[in-house]
Amino acid sequence: MAGKTEAPGLFSPVTSLKGVGPKKAECFSRLGIERIADVLELYPREYEDLRSKKTISQLRDGDKAVVTARIFMATLGKGFGKKRTLHVYAEDDTGRMEVLFFNGTYFLKQFSQGSLFRFFGKVKAENGRVVMMHPSYSKADASSEEEILPVYPLTRGLMQKDVRTVSRFAVKCAGQLPETLPAEAIKSARLCGIDYAYSNIHYPEGDDAFRAARYRLVYEELFYLDAALAMSRSRGGSGRKGNAMDVSGAGAFTDTLPYKLTGAQQRTLDEVLKDLSSPNAMNRLVQGDVGSGKTVIAAAAMFTAAQNGFQSAFMAPTDILARQHFETLKKLYKPFDIKVGLLTANIPAAERKAVLKGLSDGSVDIAVGTHALISEGTTFRSLGLVITDEQHRFGVNQRELLSSKGINPDVLVMTATPIPRTLAVVLYADLDISVIDELPPGRIPIETRRYDRSTRKNAYKLLLSEVASGRQAYIVAPFIEDPEVMDGYSAETLYADFVSDHPDIRAELLHGRMSQQEKDGIMERFYSGSIQVLISTVVIEVGIDVPNASVMLIENSERFGLAQLHQLRGRVGRGKYQSYCLIVTGDDSETAVERAEIMCSTGDGFVIAEKDLEIRGPGEFFGFRQHGLPQLRLADPIKHRQVAAQALSDVKKMMAEDPTLSSAKNAAFAENLRNKYMQSDRLTL
Ligand code: ADP
Ligand code: MG
Repeated sequence: MAGKTEAPGLFSPVTSLKGVGPKKAECFSRLGIERIADVLELYPREYEDLRSKKTISQLRDGDKAVVTARIFMATLGKGFGKKRTLHVYAEDDTGRMEVLFFNGTYFLKQFSQGSLFRFFGKVKAENGRVVMMHPSYSKADASSEEEILPVYPLTRGLMQKDVRTVSRFAVKCAGQLPETLPAEAIKSARLCGIDYAYSNIHYPEGDDAFRAARYRLVYEELFYLDAALAMSRSRGGSGRKGNAMDVSGAGAFTDTLPYKLTGAQQRTLDEVLKDLSSPNAMNRLVQGDVGSGKTVIAAAAMFTAAQNGFQSAFMAPTDILARQHFETLKKLYKPFDIKVGLLTANIPAAERKAVLKGLSDGSVDIAVGTHALISEGTTFRSLGLVITDEQHRFGVNQRELLSSKGINPDVLVMTATPIPRTLAVVLYADLDISVIDELPPGRIPIETRRYDRSTRKNAYKLLLSEVASGRQAYIVAPFIEDPEVMDGYSAETLYADFVSDHPDIRAELLHGRMSQQEKDGIMERFYSGSIQVLISTVVIEVGIDVPNASVMLIENSERFGLAQLHQLRGRVGRGKYQSYCLIVTGDDSETAVERAEIMCSTGDGFVIAEKDLEIRGPGEFFGFRQHGLPQLRLADPIKHRQVAAQALSDVKKMMAEDPTLSSAKNAAFAENLRNKYMQSDRLTL
């Protein structure tokens, strides 16, 4: 075959290895692996430790063990088509066991009678029956030299042995990889070499070697992340020169509010005002759970800026949210002579032109909007304050683009996604943080209940009774239309079913593929109460504030992350009524049930964030990919907080000495940072 004649190298395509054809290559590609070297960062999810070999008679319930056994029978069990279970019976000199695979039709052929296999998996032992569920396995006669073998996350069509073939080759060549970490960091953290690290994370020689390898790789990920953040911040980080504002007039605004600020709001506002009055620029993150009242803090800050002759920009992630903020601000500023303009991609051209003109000539004080705010055509006369709401939705660069339109503007970022302190210190080392950890008084805690497919009807019963007593409700589905391959409800189907079952209830469908006009119209009618039940996708996730809504029913909750579920729940319980969050799981997988139970057990966003981080890992939590930031594959800033602290301190040392990373000794690192992580349109060095 072409390409296989030349000796393969680390950067050859996987197909240059014997045994990897185009079909397998396609599977590898699904795992993000094109070149042989790519497998180095496909870290094993666990290890098959041959030092823990057991005989069948030694197996106990709950063990995780390696067993070598001979097949004497393999049969298909219950189920249909490809989804049938596969029961393999195997024995050694001491006894018999069963090996069970779900969707096992594919594997049937491999387990021919009499062949010897090595199984590695979790043991269930009940009433004398010993079962291993879904183990990883390999032909035992394909003997390996290694004592500890990697177990990789797989995709259909790939076997452990396929990935091992590639990774064995890759670690052998890892010596060709250049060292990119600065020598000082390696020395300071006492890191092992990169080839040793890759070799021992895949095929550990022993426990110590494994630990040294993991330490190095975790450190490296965090070092890159910290450096990327530090570089992107250096143009807008703390210590920047700012505008010292006179903040003594802020009370004039808060005095007009129909309520008293909570203690936490007051504390946060004081911190913000102190920043505004300082000659240094503000760089503050306000974290507050949904409903904690962040908007009014933003309003007070922008009021103060306006009094000082500065314009403000308030950026929200969605049109709906921007519009809502626009309406809220207009109401709050009624007693004052402050002009607010709305700028989204979807407002009529004439209006848009007028707002743009107002911003550039200074007659508009505050611009509320979406990404439209950072588009090229937007210029400000005297932008002094930049606020982004739900900041985790924006990339670092988008925030900076907005800041670049001002004169050393103060920067305030707000988020309802509580960031665990442990992670915040890593990610926001240069941001000051205020936490609004108190809800406005009089809120009744939301009651969260869990349902499954069989009890789903009861959730709807509760929803209907709430609607009957005058409340409004949300129903959220993971999909817009019925998916072809996955299981789960779509908003369209739920809507169709709902209106045919309840023709007397005014229900409406809302999803992201509708035109802006349609969406706006629907939201307006939901605000006004003329729509009783809103059936939607997660477009309503952030910020929507309808106090009369008392039910949030979430279908196929397993398709949502914990933080997302918590955000959705925050759409209710915003008024004076008892509210309910009804979580309907679509399957009874462990994660689905676990997440639903966590949701039922706490309303505290910080607790949920910590759990979310535990379950999903920090990479997904922050959507690093989306932000163009280095992805964390191995590192977990919570579990590895000591390594994280070491890496951060080493990065700080490096940046203090060489802020632009232009010295020769950091050249390899700087180049790798640029190539590997910083897409040109996101973060630029
Ligand atoms: P979030 O922090 O989720 O953005 P909002 O700013 O939308 O929360 O506030 C939620 C609701 O609470 C709004 O209706 C707002 O008017 C109200 N609110 C804010 N602060 C207070 C307060 N101190 N007392 C009573 N209600 C308040
Ligand atoms: Mg908000």
